[in-house]
Formats: sequence, C-alpha cells, structure tokens
Amino acid sequence: MRALPRHVVDHADATRLERGDGGAMFGVVPKPLWERRAPADERNRITLGLRPLLVRTPDERILIDAGVGGALGPKDADIYGVDQTEHLDHALAAAGLTASDIDLVVATHLHFDHVGGFTTRVDGAIRPRFPRARYVINRHEWQDATHPHERNHASYFADTFVPLLEAGVVDFTDHDVEIRPGIHLERASGHTMHHQLVRLTSEDRTALYVADLMPTTAHVDEAWIMGYDLYPMDTLATKKRVLAQAIAGEYVIFFEHDPAIEAGVIRQDGRRKRVDPVV
Ligand SMILES: [Zn+2]
Repeated sequence: MRALPRHVVDHADATRLERGDGGAMFGVVPKPLWERRAPADERNRITLGLRPLLVRTPDERILIDAGVGGALGPKDADIYGVDQTEHLDHALAAAGLTASDIDLVVATHLHFDHVGGFTTRVDGAIRPRFPRARYVINRHEWQDATHPHERNHASYFADTFVPLLEAGVVDFTDHDVEIRPGIHLERASGHTMHHQLVRLTSEDRTALYVADLMPTTAHVDEAWIMGYDLYPMDTLATKKRVLAQAIAGEYVIFFEHDPAIEAGVIRQDGRRKRVDPVV
C-alpha cells in the first residue's frame, strides 16, 4: 500500500446506526460512569456505529467486516434499534464502488453484527453478497461459530457464513498471518477466543482495526470491557498489550462501533487515556 488505508466513511449494510444495551456494552462498569461517555435512551440503549473498513491496495479492494446486513428479523431489528436508512451499498457507492468490485472480504470474527452483510438472499437462496470475492475466515473462529453453546449461540447466525463454504469461496486462515503485503490478521482473544484485529502497515505508519477489542472510544481504558466478552481477562491482557504498542507507536485506531469517531490516535493523559480523532 502506498497510502494509509482509506475506509468506508459510512456504516454497514442496512445499518447506519444501531442501539446496543448500555449495560452489556460496559460490563462491570457502573451506569453512572458509562452514561457520562455514552448517554442511554429510555430502554437503556446507547447509540453505536457499524463501520466496516475498506482497504484499497494497488490491485485489490478489501473489505474488513460487513455490518449486520439483513441478518436481523423485525423483532431483533427493533431490540437493536437498527437504522436502515443508509447501508453498505450507499457507503460503497460513495467510494465509487459496488459489491461486485470487492475482491476480498475479511472477518474479524463471526458475530452477526460483523458478518451479517457477508451473504444475501436472492430468490429464496442465500448467496455470497460479494459475487467476485474470496472470504478470509479464521478456522478456529469458524469451529466455535459452527459449534455454539448457550452463552454464545445468540451471536452466531449460520446463514451469514455457512452458505459461503457451500459456495466454495472461503479461505481459512490460522492465527497471526499476513494475508497481503502490509495486512496482518492478529489474534486478539477475549471477546471470543479467536477474535482477530487487523494490522495495516504503510510506509512508516501503522493502523489497527481493533473490532470488538475496543468497540468505541469509551472502551480505551483497560477495565472498560464489554459484558458480551466470553473471556474478559483475556480481553484485559490483549488490551494492555495492544494499548502499549498503540500509544508508543502513535497508531491510528479504527473504532468499528463508535457512533461518531471513526479513527483516532490514543494518548495517555494522566491516569486516563484520550483519543485524538484523525478523520
Ligand atoms: Zn462481536
């Protein structure tokens, strides 16, 4: 890559914004504290973005995650307050692209709000949403997603990923791989056991798409860990490691679920951390 990756400025398919449960988004952090960073509505929901990342290399257009797509039925769409006025097609159009222009699609993990847009229903059949693309998926995450248990089954919708295997478009990866020059997938355990972040290096700059490790700028402090996380102590360890690198290297961090700030540089500010937006 010659330049820092350009990313989709708007938000994911069928989902400009959603509203997530404030308590679940902040785990053990008491509401009087989190509410100052993320005001709640009358149903205790906070506003979240759903923001895939578009990376353009000289040869390819690569999409990392694809939002919720059409994965939710009406009841869940209401619970999550999904705003469908703008979605990934609009964001791609704003970048001068359509779904057919995407060469590679990468999953950070297989939760429905990240891969719901991977497939689409055409005449009753579920097909890959990006007709020319290969899909890069971690094989261990796939194993967990296809063998869910009581604690995680509500997060995995088989229709959003199993049809890709049947269509023969999945490239499975192991942990910590360079999928293209300057594009690394790194294990970032905690949210799920095999959750990954994406490291983009371009000349002397590094950017991280951290997915659900730090879903919003309110999550940059170590203890602000989602209640959704299956392994919160792993999240803590991963976060400490990533934050130390990110602060020292002045990395650009992409926040997938932040309602307002797409990307920023994290800086230590006394005992707290602060995010200086870069977009
Ligand atoms: Zn997730």
